[in-house]
Amino acid sequence: MSKASHAELPKSVDPYRLAEQNSTLEGEIPLSALARFREAVLGIEEGAACSVKLSFYMDAERRRIVSGELEAPVNLECQRCLGSMQTALVSRFTLGLVTSDEQAQQLPKDLEPFLTNDFSADLWLMVEDELLLVLPPFPLHDRDECPAGEDLEAYEPNGSPAQPDEPRKENPFSVLADLKKTKH
Ligand SMILES: [Zn+2]
Repeated sequence: MSKASHAELPKSVDPYRLAEQNSTLEGEIPLSALARFREAVLGIEEGAACSVKLSFYMDAERRRIVSGELEAPVNLECQRCLGSMQTALVSRFTLGLVTSDEQAQQLPKDLEPFLTNDFSADLWLMVEDELLLVLPPFPLHDRDECPAGEDLEAYEPNGSPAQPDEPRKENPFSVLADLKKTKH
């Protein structure tokens, strides 16, 4: 992706007006501003941003829709070697704007609800939710990039992941931190 800096995606918008105007919004959200997301990943590069493109429109049933795509660079913890692994989260989604649970239940199955109030929606919260949804539950380096690649036989060939209750899942960074603490 190009390194050119883009405008920030507006945080608060009137999504209904945007849908009636067939508007498209494009911009970035600094990942450092998304606290829940930051806590859910191993790390984010300084200045990293989520690129977002959102199209607001009305469908044939006059439902207000926002469809979007996003991409965000992130560091995850490889669950094989417990090392850092750089990847990009990508998501496409189509949401139906609703202002109540009743409306949400009336949406067709292929539309996820985006609950907002009548005149404003927090796009950053919505994007953060979408990012959390596409976080891989079990991130793994590519086979030839993983420092623990030689242990591969323990985890494959049937592709079944390590058992979650395996005792070896100690975070190397917390061990390091303990070492530093006891040094003095
Ligand atoms: Zn790995």
